[in-house]
Amino acid sequence: MPTSPHTELTDARIAADKKATSDPHVQTTLCHAGRNPEKHSGAVNVPVFHASTILFPTLEKLDGKASAPVRYGRRGTPTSQALEDTVSALERAEGTVLTPSGAMAITVTLLAHARPGAHFLIPDNAYGPCRHTCNEVLKPMGVTFTFYDPLIGAGIADLLRDETALIWIEAPGSQTFEMPDIRAIVDVARANGIRTALDNTWSGGYYLQPISMGVDYSIQAGTKYLCGHSDVMSGTIACGPGLHEGMKNYAARLGVCVGPDDAYMVLRGMRTLAVRMRQHQDAALQIATWLADRPEVLRVMHPGLATDPGHTLWRRDFSGSSGLFGFVIRPVDRARLARMMDGLRFFGMGASWGGFESLLIPTDPAKLRSATEWNPGGQTMRVQVGLEEPADLIADLEEGLARLA
Ligand SMILES: *Cc1c(COP(=O)(O)O)cnc(C)c1O
Repeated sequence: MPTSPHTELTDARIAADKKATSDPHVQTTLCHAGRNPEKHSGAVNVPVFHASTILFPTLEKLDGKASAPVRYGRRGTPTSQALEDTVSALERAEGTVLTPSGAMAITVTLLAHARPGAHFLIPDNAYGPCRHTCNEVLKPMGVTFTFYDPLIGAGIADLLRDETALIWIEAPGSQTFEMPDIRAIVDVARANGIRTALDNTWSGGYYLQPISMGVDYSIQAGTKYLCGHSDVMSGTIACGPGLHEGMKNYAARLGVCVGPDDAYMVLRGMRTLAVRMRQHQDAALQIATWLADRPEVLRVMHPGLATDPGHTLWRRDFSGSSGLFGFVIRPVDRARLARMMDGLRFFGMGASWGGFESLLIPTDPAKLRSATEWNPGGQTMRVQVGLEEPADLIADLEEGLARLA
């Protein structure tokens, strides 16, 4: 398979990102972080610890349990801690809080900044459930919101209020893939003492390090690329300097914890994150480039393409692109769209993404907006390019597009 020009970018960026020559590359870190064979009979992987009660052998140890590394199942086990440590190494975080879903990683981060009268800034293209949590959970508690144009950049300063407590960022945005100016937004936030959180699910944490850019919290649906196999729900909140202890205790007060089997599966997925991301990147770029030339396609939304409006910002901040992007086909009625979709061999239809298998769904981004318009003149689609051979995927899409006629 021909390698994409971005593989070069990735290699150069990742090499430049190493802090010192003695620091390993991120791919190496992903293979070694969080492991401790000496403690586990030499086993390469940290075992699955099913535990609620943790016993202390003496009263003195029981009295000192607050400083014990493992004290109660809800507060974490060696399995969940190994995953936390590996996510922290990937995200360059001070520490990581695990949640049972990506949606809960969002909710916990929002709730931790919620006070009656607090004001949050949310991008208009935010992941749908993030918007619904704002409107249906936090608004009734007295939090106010401004949904902002994701392309606002430094202009976000005009939206600040005295009560603004949090700026949410998603890069690129869900379904429509606009690339925000992360640095401009973070500069405004920092100058005004406002916290920032970035939904980093698209890059898998492999192609973007928000915390190194001054973002306070980098959250991911671990369900997607970290797990990578479409069989676990998981969320991660990677915390910037000085913020981990507070977030960990806040999540603990809410009773948030994760099951050891799920933590084990996500950690297993992370060991191969680097090779999977490179394959997702190369295959998605091939398919995006192919789609851009098709007469049925009005436009492709993929920041890794040189023609994309977000390409310059993407190139400045990211070291690569993942397997998820959007495109718009000419207006089509539902019956003809069904003819195309129902006959696909390799593209499944369903929610989520980030697994080994390809997915394709029609989307309706306009109904998830309130501050900006989305009318691209046709049917918006979202594709997750999996780990299949790209030539097979292109053949499948070619036959599908032909069925539209
Ligand atoms: C899927 C997704 C989430 C939520 O993750 P779940 O694990 O499904 O709850 C959050 N953000 C983005 C961008 C997502 O695509």
